[in-house]
Amino acid sequence: MAGEGKTSAISGFYKLTRGERIAKVAEMASLTDGQKKQLASDCPLGFEVAGRMAENALGVSAMPLCVATNFRVNSREVLVPMAIEEPSVVAAASNGAKLCRDTGGFFAVADAPVMVGQVQLVGLKDAGKAVRELNSKKAEIIKAAEPYAAGIAKYGGGIRGFAARALPTERGEMAIAEFDVDVRDSMGANTINTKLEGVAPKIEEVSGGKVRLRILSNLAVKRLVKAKAVWKRDTIGADSVDGVLDGFAFADVDIYRACTHNKGIMNGIDAVCVATGNDWRAIEAGAHAFAASGGRYRSLTRFRKLPNGDLEGEIELPMAVGIVGGATRSLPSAQAALAILGVKTSQELACIIASVGLAQNFAALRALSGEGIQRGHMGLHAKNLAIAAGASGGEADSIAAMMISENDISAKKASELLEKERTKK
Ligand code: NAD
Repeated sequence: MAGEGKTSAISGFYKLTRGERIAKVAEMASLTDGQKKQLASDCPLGFEVAGRMAENALGVSAMPLCVATNFRVNSREVLVPMAIEEPSVVAAASNGAKLCRDTGGFFAVADAPVMVGQVQLVGLKDAGKAVRELNSKKAEIIKAAEPYAAGIAKYGGGIRGFAARALPTERGEMAIAEFDVDVRDSMGANTINTKLEGVAPKIEEVSGGKVRLRILSNLAVKRLVKAKAVWKRDTIGADSVDGVLDGFAFADVDIYRACTHNKGIMNGIDAVCVATGNDWRAIEAGAHAFAASGGRYRSLTRFRKLPNGDLEGEIELPMAVGIVGGATRSLPSAQAALAILGVKTSQELACIIASVGLAQNFAALRALSGEGIQRGHMGLHAKNLAIAAGASGGEADSIAAMMISENDISAKKASELLEKERTKK
């Protein structure tokens, strides 16, 4: 988004009307009239597109498309689109981002977009020998695979490596041939799978085995992203620094907590992936496999106290996201979301997504270790219950406020209060 020169956090975005929010985002991100119309539409995905995207489609399932504010990533102001149905996530991310603006926001770096594709070989008399053959003919195999990589080479990507290894399994020893492929600005699954299927006969010829699976790995360890931020003790308070550290220390050694800790991180990450049409299942699978890859499941973030008492947070995880291909192109709202982000490469998108995950985790740990999350969460939940009961406009706010003050936040109470209010009128 166009915003390099703007240094102040946006305040009160949540108080604006929908029209005012769209106008503000459009101004900051220099959106086109078409993109503005797309955001303002109550039916952002027509059935003529939806019906072609997946089989047996009946309709369209929608969720709120929101925007997180206050993000400064690698010295650039960014508005972050997030598609999510869970209350509090967008507010928490925006708050986490706001509180580290005085130290420059988030600083992130993403690896080159290299994905691993695997070819499984079975029926080998001697898997070790097949592996030696494959590895000794690496150059020949890469040459045979190159024509299938011509599409991605056009964009500066291509095959970056090849190696085979033996794998003992309950069905005997197999050989696994692995290609590293730079997929540039795509997520890369189809791109890689096509290459693997194309080169498979060559792999069979060299190894003497039978090819079975030919598919990318979602454990994208060659496509990691790291983001860092510092929250000043004077900004968040000394107790928050210790609270976040206590929460992190708990997650670092306890799998029950680490699972929920990482779920909170993925609240933010998934929401950006969904908004931008990225395959969030792939990101989820990669994140959790990475979290477990050291031999025990651990936190995707780390926090430490700096010598001056400030809090430093860091996140690292695989981030196979694209800005071209897949649903990033076919979903009209994903195109508008990418325009809001103003990203030019998949690496830039990865940096923003990792920053959102870190902001989310910081905000959750701070709230959980302090006043708890239920006050904010239940306020939004109460409003949702009021809407579900049929409240509209300002009615939903007043019904929600009454439920909170009467300490009874339930669907039954929402219906009762609504009925009472309407009979008064
Ligand atoms: P894709 O098939 O749409 O391919 C990307 C296209 O973008 C290619 O045709 C490429 O030539 C083109 N392109 C244009 N500009 C480019 C640039 N700058 N950099 C790179 N490519 C550029 O999409 P994909 O990313 O190969 O595959 C993603 C899709 O695959 C997702 O929809 C995902 O859900 C699905 N998928 C995932 C898995 C998995 O994760 N295990 C498995 C199968 C399929």
